[in-house]
Amino acid sequence: MTKIGLEIHCQLTKLESKLFCSCKANYREFEPNHNICPVCMGLPGSLPRLNQKAVESATSIALALSCETPEKIAFFRKNYFYPDLPKNFQITQLNVYGDMSVGGEGYVSVEDKKIKIRRIQLEEDPGRIIYEGASERTKITLVDYNRAGTPLVEIVTDPDFENPRQVRVFLNILSDLLENLGVAEPGLEGAMRADGNVSIEGGNKVEIKNIGSFHDLEKALHFEITRQQSLFERDIEIAQETRHWDDRRKITVSSRSKEEDQDYRYFLENDIPWVKIDQSTRDILIKNMPESISSKKDRYIEKFDIAPQVAEIIASDKYFSKLFENSYSDSNAKDIANLITTDVIGFIDTKEKQQNSKITSQHLSDLIDAINSKTITRNSAKVALQEIMKSGKETKIILNELDLGQVSDESEIDSIISQIFEDEKQAVIDAKERPETVNFLVGKVMQKTKGKADPVKTLELIKSKLNQ
Ligand SMILES: [Zn+2]
Repeated sequence: MTKIGLEIHCQLTKLESKLFCSCKANYREFEPNHNICPVCMGLPGSLPRLNQKAVESATSIALALSCETPEKIAFFRKNYFYPDLPKNFQITQLNVYGDMSVGGEGYVSVEDKKIKIRRIQLEEDPGRIIYEGASERTKITLVDYNRAGTPLVEIVTDPDFENPRQVRVFLNILSDLLENLGVAEPGLEGAMRADGNVSIEGGNKVEIKNIGSFHDLEKALHFEITRQQSLFERDIEIAQETRHWDDRRKITVSSRSKEEDQDYRYFLENDIPWVKIDQSTRDILIKNMPESISSKKDRYIEKFDIAPQVAEIIASDKYFSKLFENSYSDSNAKDIANLITTDVIGFIDTKEKQQNSKITSQHLSDLIDAINSKTITRNSAKVALQEIMKSGKETKIILNELDLGQVSDESEIDSIISQIFEDEKQAVIDAKERPETVNFLVGKVMQKTKGKADPVKTLELIKSKLNQ
């Protein structure tokens, strides 16, 4: 049996300033080493000042992940020497004297499984080491401290995942949740990083560090499971070790042994007082939280009688839920939801396409009105949608330009049917013997009218002609 656990590092990119100083949290727009000050550089005599908003954002994440949140939180120094760490220690959190990190004991439901969240902690990000020529073997190594001290939330799960697919579903749920909370932009380069640990068949646990994107995390997990399985099959013991994900070769490689917790010489950060988070603060945070995806989904199902799968798809995507919420009236909500999940989603299946699409909520209401009043067929709506997305012109204009008006005139449809009965004699005989084959004839009419014939009327007319 495969067991996978995760440690996810998520930058709080929506904050103005770093965790303990007033340098910008958005370090990406600066020249190297231009977003620094004595505090984040750890110069003697400087003192940290905790960013209140960072504590609130991290607590919101903990609450949204159904975590227990303690009355008081504290910070610790994690001591180690590395060039990207100007103070020679990282200010982080540790649960030694009871629970003192922003959250613990939460969970996320992934399909039928509960993935337990062991701990959520708030800490500072180190700077960045840049190997010239992008190789660790280079003789020249540069360091950029712009990122040092930016707020980071670490989310640690139990090893509850059984395969990389569950990991992917979990990460999608988590990214949506963070984005929905308005605390992070998971799409930004380096904003979400992860470590994974993998063990198979009750063997030793291997940690994989340094994975820069969720896409690579999945690849790294697949690679690591296959590597361990091949060792297991040959009766070779799997060493307990830390491995790095080599982004360029797309493999995991063994790295120097990792420090144990006691090597970090954790101790309380006495420059930052303990922070009390009382019930009223938590109540305010909960009140200000945007509606969660699951409650949005439940609302769609209850209020509009929308199928659970359809409600889930719309609720979990910000773009589609906005499009839906702005276009429905109580009477057409179900139709709009179905139009989004059957047709719109097929054309707009990436974030980039969402950004470029010119479709508005008005277009969707207009299309549903046109379908329901039998002005156009469902098929024609699909054709119109493609054009709307590109040009953004008014629905009525596009339906005219593309000549998509539905053919409902009985004599017109009837004459087309007569022609098809002439051309498809065998199909007519078949349909008389086996009524379920009648769709072939309906399809022919649709082909001839480019999908514009009223499908209900067409079927009626064909059936009555077959019985003549
Ligand atoms: Zn600073």
